[in-house]
Amino acid sequence: MKSIPPVHKVFGYLTGNIYIIEADDELVLIDAGAPQDYMLVVDRIKSLGRSPVEVSHILLSHFHVDHAGSAAALRRVSQAKVVAHADEVPYLQGDDSVSSVYKKGVLGRAASLLPRGAAAATRVPPVEVDVACADGEVLDVLGGIRVFHTPGHTPGQACYLWEEKGILFTGDTIINTYRTLTLPTIGFSCDFDQAAASAAKVVDAVEDEDVWLVCAGHGPMVDTDAMQKLLKFRGKLMRKGKV
Ligand SMILES: [Zn+2]
Ligand SMILES: [Zn+2]
Repeated sequence: MKSIPPVHKVFGYLTGNIYIIEADDELVLIDAGAPQDYMLVVDRIKSLGRSPVEVSHILLSHFHVDHAGSAAALRRVSQAKVVAHADEVPYLQGDDSVSSVYKKGVLGRAASLLPRGAAAATRVPPVEVDVACADGEVLDVLGGIRVFHTPGHTPGQACYLWEEKGILFTGDTIINTYRTLTLPTIGFSCDFDQAAASAAKVVDAVEDEDVWLVCAGHGPMVDTDAMQKLLKFRGKLMRKGKV
């Protein structure tokens, strides 16, 4: 039985999860929530008896506003290093050529009809990325966090595996809504086929790891039968011919 590491989930305004990892000498954030979530995260950190200045790193899964919206403000208050996959860096730093809403699927088509103001509301306050990482790289954070590049939902989407603890942070590569592991929404994914292939790839990559906890970008943490659920999810993708 593994000891439960201190991973705290904050449920964000736009339903995106923010994870606060509480180590003895530092705090690490996985994603940063929407702009409205800034005080929520700060208050949660304070409720742990800790201070935002202790945040050493903010690992971002991707640039969407429900995940990176408070990154700039949290970086300012903490001087944390912001980490993201290299392919996501331009979009985090203000390049808005890749929309967060894609004209695919019913939701995407409906969203594309929204007035310009609504599109502007999904724009992320640009954040400087301090560390641009690559697929397979092991970050020198919390004793080693491995990066998986999982493009499709966005070009530089990343998953992070805290190797020593067997905890996988999947961002929007695999989400846990509707009580099951699933792919992200098609209307918010730039290449849905690639997103499916990436989701299967990350399961392949962790198959021999001792993953017991999956922390997704949306939905509850998966802390029972996590590996079986990942394998079942991949099996479903294969059966549907998505990979
Ligand atoms: Zn999301
Ligand atoms: Zn997203």
